[in-house]
Amino acid sequence: MAEEVNPFDSLQSQIDEAAAHLDVPDDVIERLKHPERVLETNLTVELDDGSLERFTAFRAQFNGDRGPYKGGIRYHPQVSRDEVKALSGWMTYKTAIVDVPLGGGKGGIVVDPADYSTAELERLTRAFAKELRPMIGEDRDIPAPDVNTGQREMNWIKDTYETLENTTEPGVITGKNLASGGSEGRVEATGRSTVIAAREAFDYLDKDLEGATVAVQGYGNAGWIAAKLIDEMGATVVAASDSSGGIYDPDGFDPVAAKEHKNETGSVVGFEGSEEEITNEDVLTMDVDLLIPAALENAIDADLAEQVEADVISEAANGPLTPAADEVLEEKDVFVIPDILANAGGVTVSYFEWVQNRNRFYWSERKVNEELESHIVDGFDALVGTLEEHDLENPRTAAYVVAIQRVADAFEEAGTFP
Ligand code: NAD
Repeated sequence: MAEEVNPFDSLQSQIDEAAAHLDVPDDVIERLKHPERVLETNLTVELDDGSLERFTAFRAQFNGDRGPYKGGIRYHPQVSRDEVKALSGWMTYKTAIVDVPLGGGKGGIVVDPADYSTAELERLTRAFAKELRPMIGEDRDIPAPDVNTGQREMNWIKDTYETLENTTEPGVITGKNLASGGSEGRVEATGRSTVIAAREAFDYLDKDLEGATVAVQGYGNAGWIAAKLIDEMGATVVAASDSSGGIYDPDGFDPVAAKEHKNETGSVVGFEGSEEEITNEDVLTMDVDLLIPAALENAIDADLAEQVEADVISEAANGPLTPAADEVLEEKDVFVIPDILANAGGVTVSYFEWVQNRNRFYWSERKVNEELESHIVDGFDALVGTLEEHDLENPRTAAYVVAIQRVADAFEEAGTFP
């Protein structure tokens, strides 16, 4: 559907776009367009039948000027060097816009985990953790879950690291379960930041969130939590989709009951509390006040963007709009809250998890949510302040202007070595 887009090209064009509005020297911008280093490694893993298989894995450390590298590890057959480089760059600017003292990193293994047993995946994860060991650590680089990885893989990496280092260092990784040093509020954090950012945007645009109609593409962790929380704020969720299709009810439906239906049947499709079934594409082009894309990257290309009728988009997913779609939506005056702010709740609460691990003192869910709220609201205020100061049309460009300036300031104050 969407045009072929190299994510690293997208990242670099977003940086160039913002750089035009910044007083940062070209040679510094050049540094900020490339990762500091990328590990490419081949892991040899014994399968259950005794044979060996080779897997390629990457870890990109994009920028550490503001703190330790931070970012997830994904398991997917399409993982590539350029994808990991791009994702590590987006992490750098995400941690900067929400002002948490971390840099950006990302990793991945080229694998479809559905093809392997749990024991094989454990050996693969521990083999990668062994390769990563010299470059990770709570003051160096802190991985986290991403596509097809979760608490289980994080616990394996933590255990491998701690065993080889002969230490206890829960802050080497985030996204752990509570028993292993995880944080309250982490599971809901991404959906929560998506709706806090949307609420701020409605307020800024003088639009009423009470009764506003909402469509959510993707009903996984980020999407369904966003649907639940925006419903609690008084908006009406009228449409939702997952990989099997979509549901629609002009009067709105109960997002929690829709999730229960998905838990039971594997999909929102067939949910009796909604009026009709629609396609994934219908969900994206529906006449609603707010659209929340919460599935995969490049979900909306330029052609589809022409048909988008939402007034505000809050990007729960990473990179759901192609750069060409972004241009179309800018011309149509759709207010797009960029992913680096809208979905930054995940990394912000990961930062809180790391702080709690280091202090060996744990916060209540209320404190986590209050601190998250202030980081997202401050990030949004910085975005609109820059939008107005530079007379910009595109909120994404404003977010990058803020974020790049913060990273450039940290770099310039530190100077170069040697
Ligand atoms: P998830 O796997 O829990 O959910 C993804 C959902 O998208 C599933 O419901 C799936 O059925 C649906 N989907 C897949 N293809 C679709 C399609 N073509 N149309 C409609 N729905 C489709 O994943 P998640 O953790 O919710 O992540 C979703 C997005 O949010 C990803 O882009 C991820 O990178 C981003 N994100 C997540 C977090 C987090 O903390 N979970 C943090 C930052 C960004």
